[in-house]
Amino acid sequence: MTELLANHVAGRWQHGTGTGTPLFDPVLGTELARVDATGLDLPAAFRFARDTGGAGLRALTYRQRAALLGAVVKVLQTHRDAYYEIATANSGTVKNDSAVDIDGAIFTLGQYAKWGDALGDVQVLRDGDAVKLGKEPVFLAQHLQVPTQGVALLINAFNFPAWGLWEKAAPALLSGVPVIVKPGTATAWLTQRMVRDVVDAGVLPAGALSVICGSSNGLMDALEPFDVVSFTGSAETGALIRSHAAVAQRSVRANIEADSLNSALLMPDAAPGSEAFNLLVREVVREMTVKSGQKCTAIRRVLVPAAVYDAAAEAIGAKLRAITVGNPRNEGVRMGSLVSRAQLQSVREGLATLRQQADLLHDGSQQPLVDADPAVAACIGPVLLGAKDADAAPLVHDVEVFGPVATLLPYRDTAHAIALAHRGQGSLVTSLHGSDDAALARTAVRVAASHGRVHVVTPEVAQTHTGHGNVMPMSLHGGPGRAGGGAELGGLRALDFYHRRSAVQASPAVLAALGL
Ligand code: NAP
Repeated sequence: MTELLANHVAGRWQHGTGTGTPLFDPVLGTELARVDATGLDLPAAFRFARDTGGAGLRALTYRQRAALLGAVVKVLQTHRDAYYEIATANSGTVKNDSAVDIDGAIFTLGQYAKWGDALGDVQVLRDGDAVKLGKEPVFLAQHLQVPTQGVALLINAFNFPAWGLWEKAAPALLSGVPVIVKPGTATAWLTQRMVRDVVDAGVLPAGALSVICGSSNGLMDALEPFDVVSFTGSAETGALIRSHAAVAQRSVRANIEADSLNSALLMPDAAPGSEAFNLLVREVVREMTVKSGQKCTAIRRVLVPAAVYDAAAEAIGAKLRAITVGNPRNEGVRMGSLVSRAQLQSVREGLATLRQQADLLHDGSQQPLVDADPAVAACIGPVLLGAKDADAAPLVHDVEVFGPVATLLPYRDTAHAIALAHRGQGSLVTSLHGSDDAALARTAVRVAASHGRVHVVTPEVAQTHTGHGNVMPMSLHGGPGRAGGGAELGGLRALDFYHRRSAVQASPAVLAALGL
């Protein structure tokens, strides 16, 4: 039997009382560990975090909590090698892809440590200037932001066990709100190990950080009105969270990051072989293959002028042919595996669905694997589909295949391209590729309403842009509509979710005594 990973709740490590759900190496098929949350006293766990963890964090200033984040960064850096080993084993990712998760997490925490330090030694945030409530300035309203007096329940997807934890926990802890994380089960080991290292290092107040691995049963029931829940995962589960009594009746604040049919758009003036064209091709291939396409921000739809459809298919296909797929431990492998055989099955089913309305332009789904047994490994090569009539292929605008799959779609003119981008019903990100700054700016504004982020790639920023799918802590992460309507990151804006706004109406003397 493999090790049963412990949960950390109510200030101590506790094992579930069941036999546990096994976690696997998705390439070798071997069992790595087990997780189980059966029998945990969840109301007590949430109470401890809320009362003990919350009080401990709120006793500190923003600058002091920022220092805690800095201390967490140091702990994680010490154990970085172990995290890479776990990611290879449990997520099946090559080193560069593990870095997106692990180093992305550490970078994000470091940023929040810096931003938090600049907030200074205060315990309340001023929200705008005081405004007079009558004719004379003798009685005024001052809006404040104060940490919510509850817990932050973080429910995460399987694809980012490290970054998914810390991109949410950093603003929560900085705000003074204790965290209970429930990782996606398939890859829970890395999250559990990071929490273990941080808890064992004793750098956070008791109750500030808890982890519950395994079933989500009962988690939502344990939420009380001042708690918040931040969810990342499928639209289906997101809908369950949204309609749960905690949210629908007890007004628990919920942030939902769900699936997204992101697009990349090649501008009309970009001819085959132009720099803009080549940059789009590079970006599409990168997005299809990083983490085997298991990124919520990955490019799923590639919108190109009809006249360059064939050239784009050829150029993207040529690069995809060079992608080696298989065991991430083999230095020659560029793309590792999906997280599980279940995901492989789901990708194959999704492909079959899209094939009803799209042609195969590059089929890596049967390509030989390097150092991996196709009967065991959850590996699949990249697949580029194409639909010559983008309007008559509703499935490609609706079905998210969470793997190395994208669909090429031709458009007639810019208005048509924008209409197709909007057909994602709200997405996390679109990237625009071109060299006409004015046309790019106009298009950026027109797609902004349905996208959390518009990433514009021009030849000038070829070497410096941060990548279509890379979520930087400085920028908003989230998207309207289908993408869940959530808003994470974006610098200190992320703190809003973990704060409550209140207006203090009082005399100038009382407001001055607030010391803001
Ligand atoms: P999922 O099946 O919806 O699961 C997400 C999380 O919710 C997991 O921790 C899961 O636990 C938990 N969960 C399942 N049922 C629940 C319930 N009834 N109540 C509370 N929690 C519940 O999604 P996934 O398959 O892990 O992730 C893939 C999806 O996530 C993709 O659609 C992708 O687009 C999306 N995603 C979005 C973003 C973003 O930022 N927008 C980022 C990454 C991924 P178990 O694992 O134990 O089932």
